Amino acid sequence: MTTLALIDEAAILAVLDTVPDPEIPALSITDLGIVRGFAVDPPRVRISPTYTGCPATVAIEQAIRDALDSAGFREVAVERVLFPPWTTEWISERGRQRLLAYGIAPPSPSATATCPQCGSADTEEVSRFGATPCKAQWRCRSCLEPFDRFKCH
Ligand SMILES: [Zn+2]
Repeated sequence: MTTLALIDEAAILAVLDTVPDPEIPALSITDLGIVRGFAVDPPRVRISPTYTGCPATVAIEQAIRDALDSAGFREVAVERVLFPPWTTEWISERGRQRLLAYGIAPPSPSATATCPQCGSADTEEVSRFGATPCKAQWRCRSCLEPFDRFKCH
């Protein structure tokens, strides 16, 4: 008789919610939407890395491993799922609010960004490349503040 290992998904999610994104510590990895679910036999959490080739991916996986280990979930493996690929649409509503509060315009399909400082939509892109390859540099024409905008994927 085989027994499928049951995993406490809510407890594990609570642990994952404490793991910050290495690039934007204001966001947890659950805000980012990279936690895709669970599987049993063997018990594992499935994650989709954000950007292909983004050095943060390895750091995220290590941070998840460390958090699970210290919370007593040593038996839970971390499985990387590449398809479907992560998209910025998976960033949660809370994640978008946190990005904005952190001074980063959340990703959106719209051609204009909303200034995280003053809320003006009168903004322009300065450079496709901001502080990291994942962000573009923008400037607000109303308050003249520069800001990063999360690129849409
Ligand atoms: Zn502004």
